[in-house]
Amino acid sequence: MKFEELGLSKAILQSIAAHGYVEATPIQEKTIPLTLAGKDVIGQAQTGTGKTAAFGLPILEHIDLDNPNIQAVIISPTRELAIQTAEELKKLGSDKHVNVQVVFGGSDIRRQIQGLKSHPQILVGTPGRLLDHINRKTAKLGHVQTLVLDEADEMLNMGFLDDIEAIIAQVPKERQTLLFSATMPDSIRRIGEKFMTNPVMVKIEAKQLTTDLVEQYFIRCRNEEKFDALTRTIDIQEPYLGIVFGRTKRRVEELARGLEARGYRAAGLHGDLTQQMRSRVLDQFKSHEINLLVATDVAARGLDVKDVSHVYNFDIPQDPESYVHRIGRTGRAGATGTSVTLVAPNEMDYLRAIEELTKKRMTPMQPATLQEARLGRIDASLDEAAVLMSKTNPGEMQAQVSALLSQFTPEQLAAGLLASVAGLEKQNAPVTLSRERPLPRRKGGKGGSRGGYRGGNRRGNGGGYRGRRDGDRRGNGGGYRGRRDGERRGNGAYKGNNHSSERRGSGQGRKRDFTVREKG
Ligand code: ADP
Ligand code: MG
Repeated sequence: MKFEELGLSKAILQSIAAHGYVEATPIQEKTIPLTLAGKDVIGQAQTGTGKTAAFGLPILEHIDLDNPNIQAVIISPTRELAIQTAEELKKLGSDKHVNVQVVFGGSDIRRQIQGLKSHPQILVGTPGRLLDHINRKTAKLGHVQTLVLDEADEMLNMGFLDDIEAIIAQVPKERQTLLFSATMPDSIRRIGEKFMTNPVMVKIEAKQLTTDLVEQYFIRCRNEEKFDALTRTIDIQEPYLGIVFGRTKRRVEELARGLEARGYRAAGLHGDLTQQMRSRVLDQFKSHEINLLVATDVAARGLDVKDVSHVYNFDIPQDPESYVHRIGRTGRAGATGTSVTLVAPNEMDYLRAIEELTKKRMTPMQPATLQEARLGRIDASLDEAAVLMSKTNPGEMQAQVSALLSQFTPEQLAAGLLASVAGLEKQNAPVTLSRERPLPRRKGGKGGSRGGYRGGNRRGNGGGYRGRRDGDRRGNGGGYRGRRDGERRGNGAYKGNNHSSERRGSGQGRKRDFTVREKG
């Protein structure tokens, strides 16, 4: 449905168009008319379906520019989400000239107080910092007309219920309350009953929780093989932008450092970083200065970065719903994506629990060999070499160039360039990871094997390593000229999935040549 049919005014429609939105998403189509009509709404739809604009557009519509008070408050679980939401509202409200401010912890409170003095009509914030401003009387919520609990499931997971109650106590009883969430556990329904008035429930049934646009693979390997399996998979898949999920902050740190040691442009994102560092890492990722972001679930929750092509679950999530959130970082807005989950043999029950939730089988995949990965790296370096050449001025090194040309053939020189760009010497850099506490045995599991699982690769999709998106999407970013070399590596070696269930069953994997050790 077009936005024009939803009852929005001209200034808002203009910003929507400038923002590049054409059609409303299902959750927007269903909730915007209700919210515009003043109803309390509980909206459930999977991540990446546009819930921000679903509540944001009617709020912007209702804002009275002549009223100097805060008229809407949006509570967000994390700093990044709060910032992201505020940015989206600023853009969508730009033609109407709505003043949106955002507050969150770990950042200079005086600057935020300055912002609050500018009479915002909309305030977005994380629970703790919102309370802080309420207590300091730097944010007055006595005239709020609409209150939003965004990503409500995550706020509960993070233990914000008390803070939320305290904030709600400061907001007039006569108000509109909106609640948006990707999942709807009972605890959230109870919030709805407690803080909302006859809320209308809108649930957009996902055909599948994980989008069909994401090809989902898993690699079964021992813990001490995981890092090699990860880097070799990355070498083969050449992710345009990839997110690597680790279970703990320490894990994220170690993975980021290990990836750097092996020559990748990677950085870690987790809650122990200062706000400044987190912003820097995110900016680097969004500007493609790095192409691998390593993150904990919480740090990456709800992040909306365009063109994330790959999600790597270095550690399988304990909670199946976390998997859905992780995978939701790719395959957004109609783009395709690939996910690879590394799973230790004793974690197979967790894999099955995920598949039960998503109603979708993951395709088994074998890790690449050292040699295959090496070829992948060399292959990938072609693009970077081309970019490097375009930036290099031979004139300024004429003498040295002549010297080299008299010493080596052009073929040797080109090979040396590729080897250098590919960082071949770093491919096996030693990396040590601390041991993570193993997940508890999953209760109620129906045994460790995936009973009855046969022919997981019936789709016959040319092997799990591709996952390349078409060149034109990537065609403009530094170093990743669109390549269409699908055939080159499309040999039988990667299509070995057909037999892999048997292989896994009998415990006779192909020859392993892994290098990573676990410490501790
Ligand atoms: P959610 O909160 O449901 O996870 P977001 O609100 O973060 O989803 O939106 C996901 C992405 O989709 C964002 O990049 C957003 O700008 C984009 N988006 C939202 N609505 C539309 C629309 N109607 N058309 C195109 N893109 C949209
Ligand atoms: Mg959201």
